[in-house]
Amino acid sequence: MNQLPWQNMIPTCIKNISSVSILILVFGLLLMLPTTSINAANPPIEVIDFSATSEFPKGIRFKVKATSTSKIESIAVRFKIGLITTGVYEYLSYDPADTVNAELFYSTNTLAGYIPPETIIKYTFEIQDSNQNVYNTEPQELIYEDARFDWDRVSKDEVTVAFHGPIQSRAETILQVIIDTLKNMGPVLGAETSEPIRVTLYNNQKEMLDALPIGSAAVGRELITEGMAFNEEGSLVILVGGSMANGTASHEVTHILNHRAGHSIFRRIPSWLHEGLAEYGNIEPGYSYSYALEFAIAADRLLPHLFMQILPGDPEDIIIFYGQSRSIVEYMIFLEGNAGMRQLLKLHQEGTNMDDALMSVYGMDRLELTNAWRSELGASPYVPPNIAESKPTAVSYPTVEAFTLTPKAGGMTVADSIDNNQSTQLQSTSGSCNTQADNETEIGVISMFLFIAVISTRRFRRKS
Ligand SMILES: [Zn+2]
Repeated sequence: MNQLPWQNMIPTCIKNISSVSILILVFGLLLMLPTTSINAANPPIEVIDFSATSEFPKGIRFKVKATSTSKIESIAVRFKIGLITTGVYEYLSYDPADTVNAELFYSTNTLAGYIPPETIIKYTFEIQDSNQNVYNTEPQELIYEDARFDWDRVSKDEVTVAFHGPIQSRAETILQVIIDTLKNMGPVLGAETSEPIRVTLYNNQKEMLDALPIGSAAVGRELITEGMAFNEEGSLVILVGGSMANGTASHEVTHILNHRAGHSIFRRIPSWLHEGLAEYGNIEPGYSYSYALEFAIAADRLLPHLFMQILPGDPEDIIIFYGQSRSIVEYMIFLEGNAGMRQLLKLHQEGTNMDDALMSVYGMDRLELTNAWRSELGASPYVPPNIAESKPTAVSYPTVEAFTLTPKAGGMTVADSIDNNQSTQLQSTSGSCNTQADNETEIGVISMFLFIAVISTRRFRRKS
């Protein structure tokens, strides 16, 4: 081996000392290095087998079989739930042995721990031994599918729809409805549409209720819940049994877009805006809300919806509230277009309060906007009650015979299922059809049918 000229000039003893010094130095550096994953030819830790299994709706079972040249000190799983940015880190339990079988059952059947079906779980296992060796498995993905059924999937762009049973054409229709809604409403809201949307279709109410969060109002109130949106996860659960599935899918996916465009850590999007936009975005809207609005105008039953923090308890008022909400969103877009709505959501997301945000975009606060809208509809102006005399809950209205709810086969009517106690509790905990506002969940259109003398529906049209 050729030596460089200067090396010949170094005395042998010095060369030897240098070699030793270098060896010590290198060894010292190795000791100082932090422990990292060791995936060398003969790793001290060996993972023989591992798995993550969906046991939805109960939870996820994580298993690891591993061995090491020294005692295994800990086995943990690190995972991310759908689009949620914060991760979970949990330890598996096992009996000490040369080869250990470790297991963790991660429960999701609580309101706080709930994970919607079809959510993608990205996970790795981390094994540590008593010699400070750490081994990380390669990242894996689990589809947290409902373990009670065998699923098929159709997907397009970023949207995946899971279904079971012979309903593929139904699933393809829902997929297209969601794609169309994203295309329509993404530009209106300025919302991100390139992030995944995962949808689960259920064929009847029984199988869907068991998939919804335990303790959610949708289950507890025994209403016919047609759909639910999980905004943080970007997931939807839709009931395809009824005729409203397309409208429900469209409405619910708009809630996810509202969230992406306007969610604020300071305050939630008010119900009138969330629901109004969701119905505005609905590509197959029902007529009930239009009729309810016409009825409310005619009967002088309009609600002060921009000032209501929660949904009204009365089921008829709920439908009026939805009708009014859609109408005022139409009016706002009539006034300042999509650009105005995008600006309003952006201001809200930045933490501006609603009156200031409305003033900035429309030059009107909530009261002025309410009365401009009422005037456009030919309704009398809203006069806010004197604060000293006001009560926090809405006044009750006399029942009007022409405006009734009818039961749907297999379900209860809203009026049947809400007693006074429940509606009081609902009022204290919920905001709208978004009964889990804090968890960023939107519970969707309640199945209600209105029969009322048909009056032509009003739309705001620009004069050309
Ligand atoms: Zn809704």
